[in-house]
Amino acid sequence: MNHGVLIIGTGPAGVNTAETLRKFGCKEKITMLSKEPFPPYSPPLMANYLETRGASDLIFWKGRDFCKDFDIDCKTSAEVGKVEPKRNRIVLTDGRFLEYDYLVIASGSEMWIPIKCECPAEESKEKYYNFKSLTAVSKLLKEVDKGANKAVIIGAGFIGMEIAITLRRIGLSVLVVEMMDRILPRMITRDIAEPLESIVRDMGIELLLNRKGELLKGRETAEELLLSDGTVIKGNLFIAATGIKPNISFLSGSGIQTQKGIRVDPYLRTNFDNIFAGGDAAEVPDFITGNIYPHAIYPEAVKQGQIIAFNILGENVHYDGGLNMNSLYHFNLPMISEGAMIAEEKADEELFFSRNNVIRKIGIKDGKILRFELVGDKEGAGLLHTLMTQRRDVSRIKDALVTKKYNQARHFMSIFGP
Ligand SMILES: Cc1cc2nc3c(=O)[nH]c(=O)nc-3n(C[C@H](O)[C@H](O)[C@H](O)COP(=O)(O)OP(=O)(O)OC[C@H]3O[C@@H](n4cnc5c(N)ncnc54)[C@H](O)[C@@H]3O)c2cc1C
Repeated sequence: MNHGVLIIGTGPAGVNTAETLRKFGCKEKITMLSKEPFPPYSPPLMANYLETRGASDLIFWKGRDFCKDFDIDCKTSAEVGKVEPKRNRIVLTDGRFLEYDYLVIASGSEMWIPIKCECPAEESKEKYYNFKSLTAVSKLLKEVDKGANKAVIIGAGFIGMEIAITLRRIGLSVLVVEMMDRILPRMITRDIAEPLESIVRDMGIELLLNRKGELLKGRETAEELLLSDGTVIKGNLFIAATGIKPNISFLSGSGIQTQKGIRVDPYLRTNFDNIFAGGDAAEVPDFITGNIYPHAIYPEAVKQGQIIAFNILGENVHYDGGLNMNSLYHFNLPMISEGAMIAEEKADEELFFSRNNVIRKIGIKDGKILRFELVGDKEGAGLLHTLMTQRRDVSRIKDALVTKKYNQARHFMSIFGP
């Protein structure tokens, strides 16, 4: 190798590629690029960064000196504008170019904002804020420091709920608008959402469900949000948490195949032999349903980064597919959901159990676990995970599983086998 491995992105996917390469003996040059001005950071820890108003270093989860420690040339504020696979090089937006032997695209995702804005302020003024990158969080924090005190959040997915709870904790008034009938609509069903919604309301957060944000308006900068039912909501900090899209616009014209995200084979290789892609930027098959889409969660970014490193080292490691998994700690109530997303595939049967603030729900399809949701008590999540990922037929034990009679379930399994 002459030019070594070039990694676009210093998020969990990029960092895990670089770290694994070094840990498993790669002596070649490794270069990492981030368009942001920060050392590698972990997005799930941005809530902590905001809550401590930037005082905590926890967000730099591998240490601020990660690049030095692993002998990696990290270039910050270096945005890739173009990839030229036939010349084995990338071109930065400032015109510089860098060559590579292997390229890893781990450019993550960005906020997707479908709501128009009629705010005649100059371009430099932020209309929608967001919580998708540390750059975005830093802008938001500046507004809070300047006195913004009424936040309106559009979208009650996990990013929306995380920012809502964090802003409330630091004293802002917070209102969340969600077009679906519940919070966390992709992750959990109505029965599971209800207890979480009461916790959120008890925190002092206002929730407007079944209401769609249609237009953001203001004379100078954003001042009010118009909803589909005609309601007007005033605020001084409008935050979009309306969904994400892979960061792949810089690939246009490169010949690298993309659809919802970057297309990859089971070894996370793109249609060019020496170019790999992983994390939120890549689309991968779902482990349970086989549907192909970007699985934008931390553990998958980590796993994919590690697999890419092994494959660059010539190991031919197969990626088995992404598994949706969410466990939010912000509600101060144990909760976990795993498996196919709600809108992705319908269960044949939904088993439900509720007692003493504990709710358990298991979706079954063709005798196998399609998804499970637990609130109030996560005990048994490991067993459910194993049965689901091993694609076991649980027809005989499903009632014991939902009512948490695990000994009975195990007894059945020992008699009838898996
Ligand atoms: C607020 C928040 C909370 C979250 N909480 C959880 C959680 O609790 N559990 C969970 O599983 N997941 C969570 N996630 C999702 C998780 O953080 C992502 O799935 C993960 O960060 C994806 O890693 P990645 O490396 O693919 O991309 P990212 O972390 O998005 O990193 C992308 C990198 O690419 C760089 N980049 C992009 N474009 C360019 C370019 N053109 N040139 C140069 N550099 C570029 C960026 O600067 C960045 O360094 C959360 C996400 C957010 C935003």
